Amino acid sequence: MAKYIFVTGGVVSSVGKGITVASIGTILKSRQISVSVQKLDPYLNVDPGTMSPYQHGEVFVTQDGAETDLDLGNYERFIDANLTAESNVTSGQIYSAVIAKERQGDFLGGTIQVVPHVTTEIKERFTRLAQKSKAEVVIIEVGGTVGDIEGQPFLEAARQMRNDVGRDNVLYIHVTLLPYLTSTQEVKTKPTQHSVNELRRIGIQPDIIICRSDYPISEGIRDKISLFCDVDRKAVIPLPTVDTIYEVPLLLEEEGLGQLVVGKLGLKARRTDLSQWQELVRRVKEPHEPVNIALVGKYVELKDAYFSVREALHHAALHHNRDLDLHWVRSEDLEQNGTDALLRSAQGIVVPGGFGIRGIEGMVKAASYARNNDIPYFGLCLGMQVMVIEFARYALGSTEPNSTEFDAATPYPVIDLLPEQKGIVQKGGTMRLGNYPCQLVPGSHAANAYGQSLVYERHRHRFEFNNQFRDILQKAGMVYSGLSPDGKLVELCELANHPWMVSCQFHPEFGSRPGRPHPLFRDFIGVAKDVLREGAQPSLPLVKEE
Ligand code: GLN
Repeated sequence: MAKYIFVTGGVVSSVGKGITVASIGTILKSRQISVSVQKLDPYLNVDPGTMSPYQHGEVFVTQDGAETDLDLGNYERFIDANLTAESNVTSGQIYSAVIAKERQGDFLGGTIQVVPHVTTEIKERFTRLAQKSKAEVVIIEVGGTVGDIEGQPFLEAARQMRNDVGRDNVLYIHVTLLPYLTSTQEVKTKPTQHSVNELRRIGIQPDIIICRSDYPISEGIRDKISLFCDVDRKAVIPLPTVDTIYEVPLLLEEEGLGQLVVGKLGLKARRTDLSQWQELVRRVKEPHEPVNIALVGKYVELKDAYFSVREALHHAALHHNRDLDLHWVRSEDLEQNGTDALLRSAQGIVVPGGFGIRGIEGMVKAASYARNNDIPYFGLCLGMQVMVIEFARYALGSTEPNSTEFDAATPYPVIDLLPEQKGIVQKGGTMRLGNYPCQLVPGSHAANAYGQSLVYERHRHRFEFNNQFRDILQKAGMVYSGLSPDGKLVELCELANHPWMVSCQFHPEFGSRPGRPHPLFRDFIGVAKDVLREGAQPSLPLVKEE
């Protein structure tokens, strides 16, 4: 039977609970303990697919086509496993399921209540993942912060689990923030005490408290938390802010978290091997020559909107022993300020995924700049559609080619709705989602990168390349380097007379792993790193990544 670790958050959100959970997974996996991970999101949306990136950051797509929280991307990268739809549970899913059952008559005669009906539905999701994944340990992150109204049914279900599956099979870890007061120059524990009290009110006594802080945590502070929150002294684990997220598993291991979890859950202790992580962190921290990449998008103010893209670029840069010098370029700025001022120093240009017309013309300008100046270009989903629009405008000598997403009346709809999308009115979960096969054309950049002929990649889009334009664009120099096995869908395209202008209709960023970069990202950086740009310095108008 599986054991469960519930991870709750206290004091404030955004303290890195997702990375902490992913790191606990890494630590257990390094002891040859099989793990799976689940994220509970208390919002009422069924999934984040309908939310703006400004609300939610990136939507992470699993191989089986679920639109999920970006934390799942961190789980996948940290435990090096492909998760499924069962790994993201929202209140929206839970309530829809309970209400559907009620309509079906499953509870005839009964009054449907949060306890037990909603909590039972939630617990079923815990055990379903345990059964499906066959993991020894299921780590469950409760989204939000303890005390949030909408998170309460999840916490109540987590509490009930201890009784359901036995005390030795459930562990509660609370991740909090210790704020620092500049006036008194000290780290404060009171908010942590309050959030633990809040947890206790629900009936959960944490076994382990992980204390996030920007400042060192003294022994005295640890003693205080141990005393007031009633946890073992060694179960108060400090987690200071670090330069790279990949260091977190090492820090937690150093503080004895792995041993503690194994002991408390009575898991069979196996030898731990974190040598690959140590090597990874050593290499990340080593200074390298930079590779200057411009990411041209519409949500660049919110870096989380492109979380996996950024990670995949980092993995690829590290592979080539380069430091990623990533410049976030607002595509609308390219519309106003011209391209040269903002792209002058870029050794490579990435146009990532996105929806809606805002900023599209700026992205088209970036593609045009890349094509005309032989700058490596990598288009991801929308980035491919933009590359096709730009190339069609050039090849057809017209400014009118467009996607029908942005101009429904264009005489040259080079990107159009997928046939199966026509007639779909419901927005949620109705895109082309998840893994689809793609046949590669030998000799192309794409085929060279993958080194194989058939690949499966994750999708999330409604629009696609319009086959009516295949011949005419091919004659002008476009190569269709990847097609669906029936030949009907263009999955990858590139330009014949360009060093590396490659785009895909899918999202390769979701499959990249530290230490194992995605082949397309790897080759994009491989070519970009050798491009010589003016001054080889980041120019001023670009916003340097913090
Ligand atoms: N908006 C485009 C489509 O729906 C691209 C989607 C994306 O980049 N994920 O096809």
